[in-house]
Amino acid sequence: MACPYPSVQIMPAFIHQLDDKVISQIAAGEVIEGPFAVVKELVENSLDAGALSITIAVEAGGKNLIRISDDGMGMSGEDLQLSCKRHTTSKILTAADLQNVATLGFRGEALASIASVARLEILTRQMGELTGWRLFIEGTAEKDFSPAGCAEGTVISIKDLFYNTPARKKFLKSDIREADKCYSMFRALALSRPNVEWKYYQEDKLKIHLPRAGLWERMGDIFGKQFMEGLEAVDYEEAGYRISGFISDKSHPRRTREYQYLYLNGRRIADRKLAYSVAGAYENFVQPGSFPCYALFLEIDPQKVDVNVHPAKAEVRFQRENEVFAVVRSAVKSALGVESIVRFDSRRPAGFPPSFPGRQMAISVADYGALFEKPPSDAAVVDFPAQTVNAPVSDVYTIPNVLFQLENKYIVTQVKSGLALFDQHASHERILFEQALNSLTSGKAASQGLLLPLQLDISVGEEESFEELLPQMLKLGFEIASFGPRTYLIEAVPAGVKISNEVRLIREMLEFFRENDERWIDAAEKTAAAFACKAAIKTGDVLSPEEMITLIEGLFRTGTPHCCPHGRPTYIRIEIGELDRRFGRG
Ligand code: ADP
Ligand code: MG
Repeated sequence: MACPYPSVQIMPAFIHQLDDKVISQIAAGEVIEGPFAVVKELVENSLDAGALSITIAVEAGGKNLIRISDDGMGMSGEDLQLSCKRHTTSKILTAADLQNVATLGFRGEALASIASVARLEILTRQMGELTGWRLFIEGTAEKDFSPAGCAEGTVISIKDLFYNTPARKKFLKSDIREADKCYSMFRALALSRPNVEWKYYQEDKLKIHLPRAGLWERMGDIFGKQFMEGLEAVDYEEAGYRISGFISDKSHPRRTREYQYLYLNGRRIADRKLAYSVAGAYENFVQPGSFPCYALFLEIDPQKVDVNVHPAKAEVRFQRENEVFAVVRSAVKSALGVESIVRFDSRRPAGFPPSFPGRQMAISVADYGALFEKPPSDAAVVDFPAQTVNAPVSDVYTIPNVLFQLENKYIVTQVKSGLALFDQHASHERILFEQALNSLTSGKAASQGLLLPLQLDISVGEEESFEELLPQMLKLGFEIASFGPRTYLIEAVPAGVKISNEVRLIREMLEFFRENDERWIDAAEKTAAAFACKAAIKTGDVLSPEEMITLIEGLFRTGTPHCCPHGRPTYIRIEIGELDRRFGRG
């Protein structure tokens, strides 16, 4: 795989003071929140200086000492003296450069901010120079500036952070907590540059040494080797965007978001919507409470993104936000091999009982067969040839007739090695969701006309959303005609919807649609989810045995029978062994 991080842009080697015009355009000043922020700023400087080997030492959670040594380009004596003044930088010159930032830093504030709240010592020798320089600053006053013998590169030591601002010092957490925060910051930085060698010391002990590597090895080095299996490579380019990195496959989600790393042009960013785009691409494979893990690198023309909006540059503004989200989704989907959530089978004959549509899809043999027994007569069928697969499920497998509704909420049935409980609403929701997506993408669906048209009134506030939703509703199989201002007539509903309260169904769909749930980035999926959620049978609905069977069969004809569109499970299985244990049968 190609190098996932942007090539390092070496900055020009002279530092200057930015003029007031540029300063006024720079977003709110950097604040050094704590030791971890010092680690971030200093390491970013080392990376901007083209370092290929960086050593970090942290003592007492960074409260006593943070020392960063690099083999970067170093500074001349003159530059060294300028580096700790406010708004001095070598990375941009004019306000126009703000549109084209390719380095991690550009505001010329970090060293000045750090110098004002700690004792700071810099040793540096510019590449190719014979001597180096030492600068020592205490409380913004220069205490020493002299030639010094040192290696090419830069060593910056920060001692006694916040020694002169007791109020801020008081807010620091325990040494252990602050050390953790420094180390997390280090991990994010080390992940972003696998081509850099890193050493991390904590209280004089080498905590980790990361040799130069590829991203995959680096992820293994940081997170543990077992993490490396189950990573899928992402390498995707579209419309001038490039996305690369690794993501966990569908079966290795984590319990925390801790393993989610997103980088934009080499800088880690925290963008909730972008994270949703990634999660959304997993198409409900990841259930609530578990999270995909990834290190993803986005490369975008710096002109198309504004990094000058957040003090720590963690948030950015994209010129074409939706385009970025869409490309990220496609990148992740293609890495996961998820083409589309709906896998159709057009050969399926129609004629499914109307209350549970969805039979046009092939049964998921693996999922279904894992639960239910084949009838004895079919025992010889091993490979499930196409015709068998597409035959009605009950021809291949039998759902035992031990089947009942618990609290009109769950369907309980015997399965191969125990029992299974199906959530009737969630299961039906999954079926309708895929049916709706099918209708939305493949054209108009079948409708069932109402005996008498029903009148639907829309309030002024809802009008706009309804106009937006209407074309999609028509595709789903609703027939809705305009009948005067904000009044409509419902003439037909999608085939398969239980005819009961159509006006309420449409109102609820509209409400769902208007809710700003960021989970649904794709408009078609959101409409499908609205329909599925509101049209599905509910808790409390009484089902006949035939309806229960049809529901279970229909569920296994969907692409993702295990969970509903919100990611909740559709069924759970209790093994006989579990029951044995609980009955003390050993
Ligand atoms: P910025 O990174 O926004 O330019 P800083 O205050 O972080 O501002 O750094 C000021 C300047 O000091 C940088 O522009 C750079 O020229 C110089 N500098 C800082 N750290 C290093 C380093 N490790 N190696 C070489 N030059 C450095
Ligand atoms: Mg900087």
